[in-house]
Amino acid sequence: MGLQIDLGAVQANYRALAGKAPGARAAAVVKADAYGLGAPRVVPALYEAGARDFFVALASEGQTLRAFLPDDTRIFILSGHMEGAELTGVIPVLNSPRQFFRDRTMRPGQPFAIQLDSGMNRLGIEPAQWAVIRDEALADQPALIISHLACADEPDHPANAMQLAAFQQMTAGCDVPLSLAATGGILLGPDYHFDLVRPGVGLYGGQPFAEAQPVVRLSLPVIQTRDVQAGEFVGYGATWSADKPCQIATVAAGYADGLLRTMSGQGANLYAAGTACPIVGRVSMDLITADVTALAQVPETLDIICPAQKIDDLAGLAGSIGYEILTSLGHRYERTYL
Ligand SMILES: *Cc1c(COP(=O)(O)O)cnc(C)c1O
Repeated sequence: MGLQIDLGAVQANYRALAGKAPGARAAAVVKADAYGLGAPRVVPALYEAGARDFFVALASEGQTLRAFLPDDTRIFILSGHMEGAELTGVIPVLNSPRQFFRDRTMRPGQPFAIQLDSGMNRLGIEPAQWAVIRDEALADQPALIISHLACADEPDHPANAMQLAAFQQMTAGCDVPLSLAATGGILLGPDYHFDLVRPGVGLYGGQPFAEAQPVVRLSLPVIQTRDVQAGEFVGYGATWSADKPCQIATVAAGYADGLLRTMSGQGANLYAAGTACPIVGRVSMDLITADVTALAQVPETLDIICPAQKIDDLAGLAGSIGYEILTSLGHRYERTYL
């Protein structure tokens, strides 16, 4: 019952992704509490699988990790050196000339990394800015130079080759370890691997890593079942009505637990050992209703994330992406780690 997280599958996915980039070190991206799955359990499992480089978004996340990761690890902070950030024991990825000068003034001699913008226009030092500070930055020996791909989950998107070329151009002659690929970039092939790869979502069973082992199973307790007659409706807004007599089960989770309301009426199911029970009516804050007429006996729990309906399937029905489903999964579930 509750949210089951298979740490063995996380480890297997890490090894599989690392194996696809044999020439590179494989880091692990564990921002947002390891994509919502619980960094205190997931990160040590990744360490055990061989990861020594970890990426988080914020310095505060990095400090949380530092407390339980051994000293032979590096923790990179993707937001870089923000004002007031506690950067002891972690490595800021500096994203602008402003961050670069702030960091080099306040932390001389301390390790840092650089992010270059190769075209995504979200984070990173732009080519013209890089031309100005490049020599000074390289003289200080960055631990890593990274950039990030905007469209790596679409292998044929022309932005991939364009960003690759821009990154190669900006880093030509730099004697510093380089990193461009996240999960999608690993799958684009060796040109994209450089010295270090940064998988995130693929570790947790999400697309675009189609071969990923599933990591999450989410089972929801059935609170109540009832018979509903033809013509009666179910749920807020009376958006669904029975066209024949049926049995409805109400389970204890809703959009407050990250099960997006936008999946209402889109064909999502709950599952009883592989038998689909269509979700009917609107997903509400704490409750979901499903048609369980097909079941001879209604079990104690029904699955909403399981091999028959994976994270990305559910995301597609809700008009979202696997990343958002994962990071939204709430904290009211009882969590078990396998
Ligand atoms: C989130 C993130 C990653 C990991 O991306 P996935 O698509 O989850 O593998 C890697 N690099 C950066 C800069 C990121 O922000």
